[in-house]
Amino acid sequence: MKISEHIYRIDGTNANVYVIFSESGVVQIDSGFRGQLQRIRAFYSSLGVRPGFVLITHSHIDHIWELARVVDEYSPEVYAHPLEAQVIEGQRPMYSSSLLLGVFGRLLRPRPVKGIKGIISMNIKGLEAVETPGHTPGSTSFIYVDDGKKYIFAGDAAFEANGRLFVNRRYATDVSVAERSLDKIIHMGPGIVLPGHGNPVVV
Ligand SMILES: [Zn+2]
Ligand SMILES: [Zn+2]
Repeated sequence: MKISEHIYRIDGTNANVYVIFSESGVVQIDSGFRGQLQRIRAFYSSLGVRPGFVLITHSHIDHIWELARVVDEYSPEVYAHPLEAQVIEGQRPMYSSSLLLGVFGRLLRPRPVKGIKGIISMNIKGLEAVETPGHTPGSTSFIYVDDGKKYIFAGDAAFEANGRLFVNRRYATDVSVAERSLDKIIHMGPGIVLPGHGNPVVV
C-alpha cells in the first residue's frame, strides 16, 4: 500500500513493515513476524530495490522475527535503541509484561542479529529517532517528513483500532510511561501516525 510519495507499507505484514525511499537510500522500518520474509522479498523484487537500512522500533518478536534473514539477504545497516539491541543480539530475553508473553518469548526466540547500531548514531537524511518508552523500555518512534507532511512510525507505542490510537495495556512493560509516550506522539503532530498494528491515523 502506498502511503505517500516515498512511503509504502508492505501488504500482508504484521506487525506492519514500512519502507521509505529516502535521499540516503531505501529504509525499512521493522521486519515482520515469522514467515513474512516472502512478502518483504516480493516487495523489493517487484520494485527492483534493496534496503540499505533497517530501523527497529522495538524487539518484540512480531517486529524482528525476519530480521536475521533480511540481513542475510540484503546486508543493511540495522539501527535500534541499545536496550532493544540487547534483545535482538540475544543478550537478554524479550521484554514481557505478562507471564504468558514471557513463556511465549522464551519458547519462540528469533535468530540473534549482531552488530546493531545505536539510534544515536543514525544519520539518514530526513529521519529522526525519538524515544517513546513504556511499551518496552527502548521503544523508539521514527519521524520522516515527506512532501511537507510529517509521518511518525510509532511501532507499538501507538496501537490503532477504529481510527483511534491507544496504549495496549496488556503488552506494555510500564503502562503509565507508555501513556506519556503516546501523548508525546500525538503532540508531535500535525502529522500522520503509522502504527505497528493497524492503519494510519491523522494527529
Ligand atoms: Zn507488535
Ligand atoms: Zn510490541
